[in-house]
Amino acid sequence: MKTYLISEKGNFYKANLHCHSVISDGRWTVEQLKEAYMAQGYSAIAFTDHQVFLTHNDLTDDKFVALNGYEIDVSGGSTALGTRKTCHFCCVALDDKLETQRIYYDAKHLTKNIEAAKLEAEQGYREREYTPEYISALMQEARDNGFFVTYNHPGWSLENFEQYGHYHGMHAMEIVNFGCVEAGYEDHNESVYDEMLMNGERIFCVATDDNHNGRADSFGGFTMIKADELSYKALTDSLIAGNFYASEAPEIKELWYEDGKVYIRSSEAVKITYMTGRRKARAVYPDGTDTITEASFEVLPEDNCFRLCVYDKAGKKAYTNAYFIDKLVDQ
Ligand SMILES: [Zn+2]
Ligand SMILES: [Zn+2]
Repeated sequence: MKTYLISEKGNFYKANLHCHSVISDGRWTVEQLKEAYMAQGYSAIAFTDHQVFLTHNDLTDDKFVALNGYEIDVSGGSTALGTRKTCHFCCVALDDKLETQRIYYDAKHLTKNIEAAKLEAEQGYREREYTPEYISALMQEARDNGFFVTYNHPGWSLENFEQYGHYHGMHAMEIVNFGCVEAGYEDHNESVYDEMLMNGERIFCVATDDNHNGRADSFGGFTMIKADELSYKALTDSLIAGNFYASEAPEIKELWYEDGKVYIRSSEAVKITYMTGRRKARAVYPDGTDTITEASFEVLPEDNCFRLCVYDKAGKKAYTNAYFIDKLVDQ
């Protein structure tokens, strides 16, 4: 029996799940962002301005969904070289009627928008505390309050396993943050994702732009969400279900499990890899052709989990979420 790991029915909708506008430190208005992204084939943007949660439901129409969110940062600690560390994560509201911001600080971007933000209480600004326990509690609080939580750009943040190895409560992490990569940071975070998986976190991966549009920081990292229709709820239901993949360019068209093997169909690729929760990766290359558009891999119970990557000629990659073998239905 075929078990679709990305659902068979529905359509893929291209989304940027991390985006800054003039509300915080971005250069473009939310209207300009919608127009520019729609022109590049996007159907959704999560507006995640720093520290301030505002809704943008007026931008949603039958061809576009504005996902409402914000990005939280907590800074402190230091590297051995003395540089301050920071933790950033995005919270995307699962319901477009969610309007209240419960987690907030006396931050400049919130202060600038204080009239528009719907805060739970007039007072209650919190002191930040850069500890894994505090950050995990914030992630959990956001999750409990109906947000999809993504951990952002560990490379830019100068965080390592001592920090993120103790963060719990995120739904997903950024396997690519294009804005950071474009600025020169190492925010291709596959090794971080693998560390988190091997540490027991059952989380998804997303690719985002984190664009501020002072440079060419748009359209390089995106998440393809499979959903029955283009609506706020259909998209966020798919986010929670992990019904999506992350990409810098290649497409994943189909992904399914059948009789002990995982099958993938993709756009033209020069390599497709299968990584596991142990030292047993495998790769398929073209054999007598320039490219391949499909591959299959035997799934062994001792692999624990697996994820696939599709590489195109330009070196860009698409990344599936990780799948856990104990959850595959016909195992
Ligand atoms: Zn950030
Ligand atoms: Zn950001």
